[in-house]
Amino acid sequence: MFDLLVIGGGINGAGIARDAAGRGMKVALVEKDDLASHTSSASTKLVHGGLRYLEHYEFRLVREALHEREVLLKIAPHLVRPMRFVLPHDRGLRPKWMLRLGLFLYDHIGGRRTLPGSRGIDLRKPPHEAILQDRFRRGFEYSDCWVDDARLVVLNAVDARERGAEVMTRTECIALKRVGEHWRATLRAGGAGKTVRARAVVNAAGPWVDSVAAMATGGRAEAHLRLVKGSHIVIRRMFEGPHAYIFQNGDGRIVFAIPYERDFTLIGTTDQLFEGDPDAVTISEEERDYLCAVASEYFREPVEAADVVSTYAGIRPLYEDNAASNATVTRDYVFAIDAPDGETGGAPPLLSVYGGKITTYRKLAEHALERLGEHFAVPEAPWTADAVLPGGDFEHGFDAFVAEVRAIWPWLPEETALRFARAYGTRIERVIGRAQSLADLGRDLGGGMTEAEADYLHREEFAHTADDLLWRRSKLGLHMTAQAPEIVAAAR
Ligand SMILES: Cc1cc2nc3c(=O)[nH]c(=O)nc-3n(C[C@H](O)[C@H](O)[C@H](O)COP(=O)(O)OP(=O)(O)OC[C@H]3O[C@@H](n4cnc5c(N)ncnc54)[C@H](O)[C@@H]3O)c2cc1C
Repeated sequence: MFDLLVIGGGINGAGIARDAAGRGMKVALVEKDDLASHTSSASTKLVHGGLRYLEHYEFRLVREALHEREVLLKIAPHLVRPMRFVLPHDRGLRPKWMLRLGLFLYDHIGGRRTLPGSRGIDLRKPPHEAILQDRFRRGFEYSDCWVDDARLVVLNAVDARERGAEVMTRTECIALKRVGEHWRATLRAGGAGKTVRARAVVNAAGPWVDSVAAMATGGRAEAHLRLVKGSHIVIRRMFEGPHAYIFQNGDGRIVFAIPYERDFTLIGTTDQLFEGDPDAVTISEEERDYLCAVASEYFREPVEAADVVSTYAGIRPLYEDNAASNATVTRDYVFAIDAPDGETGGAPPLLSVYGGKITTYRKLAEHALERLGEHFAVPEAPWTADAVLPGGDFEHGFDAFVAEVRAIWPWLPEETALRFARAYGTRIERVIGRAQSLADLGRDLGGGMTEAEADYLHREEFAHTADDLLWRRSKLGLHMTAQAPEIVAAAR
């Protein structure tokens, strides 16, 4: 019997499973596909307060998210990295005083400690004058952070397992029923079925949260979701420098252009109501053209559809607050608890998670367990704010850690050393093992994924398929030739 069954291996499910397991609860996490295979690998990958949300008075969310930015920098110093964002002022759009006020609030409401504050900048000077069109003269620069979203999910799941959770990927929960004082869940994995019992269930099924809630309550649970698709395009690197741009568009929306995987620029996102099957979500031509058009309003060089080398799309599982526009629906999270009083006392609880951000997942997990604690015994000791994620336990900052890596394994190519340090932190030792030369890491399966790395990911990070390796555990898929994924798949 489990204390807690968590349905959904996105960021919210993985974060809740980790937190609960660390409190000593017996936890099962089930994910129907791969970890992070849906919304949690399709985000813009910002650990941010959400400057834009200030316009919609989402002060609670922004404050919590800014606070979490500092926490995540501390507990995942390998994965989360600071980034400066450049916001050009554009005549006819938001006035300067408004941008200045927004940034003042952004600098001050979230307990910023380590990141530099915002400042005004001259866009007629390098490097911006060579990147942006001539009409941009003044702008602002502020701090946020960037994270590999899928790896953040995986590291939470790895830590959950190391703290005793049973993590079952490619395992779908197909039925949920209350039986006396516990839940009985029917799971299906690769054609085989099994049943598990749990004292409480967390429904962190993202875009499927309404359907899982309906399955558990026989249709009694109210639907709360608004599904809003967001898409990104990836083009060859558009500009030099470690900074990102945040572009305002005439429709009131904003679009980011972010340095991505060394050789690329990531541009996104869109907001479109989605009514199809969340398992089959792709960018439309209209979204692609919209993103190209917004970027072309700013960059000297226009961005054309033919420049797009890769795309991805995801569904925001937002809490329906009846906002008029898809861009303004709240990005905050909301819980729904189903725990009707039975004859013998409270029925075993079901907690459903709506909304949320990658940025706020850790706090969301704490709040979820606090809410569950009103209905059954949850050890009351929040612990995750100070506990580093696997690989994050280096002492003197990321740059010093990279220098150490280069000194210990001087034969690792510089790019690989940096990539391994970012992805695996101190667990790089487990990836490299006893290898004493590049050749000892085995064949390059494509894009720099060696046999040793693939073995590690299969062994320790729940990877199974080529897509798991190339698009979620790493982003090496972007750097590969068309045939390489087959070579990776065949290598198992
Ligand atoms: C375009 C876009 C940009 C975004 N940008 C940012 C950003 O920059 N910063 C930020 O902080 N946030 C961002 N977000 C928000 C963030 O990505 C999401 O809030 C978050 O990923 C949601 O995670 P989740 O765990 O709730 O859902 P998901 O990641 O979708 O996870 C739910 C999982 O449940 C599984 N599941 C469903 N039903 C079952 C079942 N019956 N049995 C087993 N498993 C099941 C699914 O397979 C899925 O993997 C963005 C979102 C989008 C779409």
